Amino acid sequence: MNLDDFRKNGYAVVDWICDYLEQVEKYPVKARVKPGDIKKQLPGTPPARGEEMDTIFQDFKDIIIPGITHWQHPGWFAYFPANNSPESILAEFLTAGLGAQCMVWATSPAATELEEVVAGWMRQMLGLPPEWSGVIQDTASSATLCALITAREKATDFKVNEQGMEKNLTVYVSHEAHSSAEKGAKIAGFGRDNIRYIPTDEKFALQAEELERQIVEDKARGFIPTAVIATLGTTSSGAFDPVPDIGKICQRRKIWLHVDAAYAGPAAILPEKRHLFQGLENVDSFVFNPHKWLLTNFDCSLYYVRDPELLTRSLAVDPEYLKTAHDKEVKNYRDWGIQLGRRFRALKLWFVLRSYGVKGLQEFLRKHISLAEFFKNLIAEEDNFELVAPAELGLVCFRFNDGQKGSLELDEFNQELLQRINGREEVFLTHTLLRDNFILRMAIGQRTTEEKHVTRAWEIIKEEAQKMQP
Ligand code: PLP
Repeated sequence: MNLDDFRKNGYAVVDWICDYLEQVEKYPVKARVKPGDIKKQLPGTPPARGEEMDTIFQDFKDIIIPGITHWQHPGWFAYFPANNSPESILAEFLTAGLGAQCMVWATSPAATELEEVVAGWMRQMLGLPPEWSGVIQDTASSATLCALITAREKATDFKVNEQGMEKNLTVYVSHEAHSSAEKGAKIAGFGRDNIRYIPTDEKFALQAEELERQIVEDKARGFIPTAVIATLGTTSSGAFDPVPDIGKICQRRKIWLHVDAAYAGPAAILPEKRHLFQGLENVDSFVFNPHKWLLTNFDCSLYYVRDPELLTRSLAVDPEYLKTAHDKEVKNYRDWGIQLGRRFRALKLWFVLRSYGVKGLQEFLRKHISLAEFFKNLIAEEDNFELVAPAELGLVCFRFNDGQKGSLELDEFNQELLQRINGREEVFLTHTLLRDNFILRMAIGQRTTEEKHVTRAWEIIKEEAQKMQP
């Protein structure tokens, strides 16, 4: 494609994205397709000759779009949000246009330095300790893996990197921790048997005294307690583990404390929610995802560490072909994560932060929190529904419960209810298990979600529940 054609097609793509975002509400929020529906429309062999962009773009609209689930739909209440914004999309264009691979400072000095600056801005906005250093990772899963590897190396005086894994290093998480903790512990060589799942309290938060009891027991049995992963804003219910208490235990016992605030992290920019993020001064590493609830399209995950030297010492390899003249004066982010090659992710976060400003982002988050309050009140007023977890931010966990059904029957009822709700195609909610009960999750955080969308979701939920009753 020559650049004249690129210009023409570029404008067409921007037009298409504008129309899409304007009309996204008209799509069924969840893709209607069955497994294999998309593949069968695509040739099994690659095109021998280049095709016209018009044909490719038409197939994008006709074949790909029907198989897309619309995360930017205002009826998106599933999982957690992954919102984008026009600002972030523009920056993503520019990132693709520059095509820079930002593995070391020298391969794009502005990318590295902008990353340092936006990580610093975000650190100030969240009120994180000023001595922390930040890096942008692809996902929270990668950041948690880095934390576990660093914890492992610190606990073994960097021996595992040299000699392979010892068998007796243990990791502690609550039953409600995200699955990325388990995945990270497996990849980092701890082994699933060495993950200790600590019970939670009535708010689904890790019980610090149980944690300490387990650590003491493990030490007595010859294990080396190495890392605790605490969650601020768990995936299932949005629970906040007691980081101040956990931090004291970890300090006393010299255990790495990693905090996973993948979803909830942005809420720390709100003074009225800052109390949920106490105790971070005793934390070794912290991750949150601007790609979830901060208008920065996937992927963009901010990882902070108290001691970057431990991180880079754990991950650095130093082949001759990557050495540059400035290595002693600059940050080379290739040593701060798993991958070598790095996308220029800081640009989209910079666009978002500058365009919204702190106040704009606070208003954005407050809107969702107040919509969640609104939804909570609707549930609280309805006899046949119950809230099943505290909802501090945008996630509300609830279920139908008329007080007449046994627990199996309730699970079946709520399972069918969820299917029916999503079958209406105007909203999309997902589920979880809390204390083994089937629970519906309403995660409010989409950029364009307004009160009318929450009201509509509630109407659908009630209508479907009513239809299911005799
Ligand atoms: N941690 C928590 C608490 C999450 O809710 C999630 C995803 O929803 C993750 C980690 C994983 O995030 P990522 O997809 O960035 O790896």
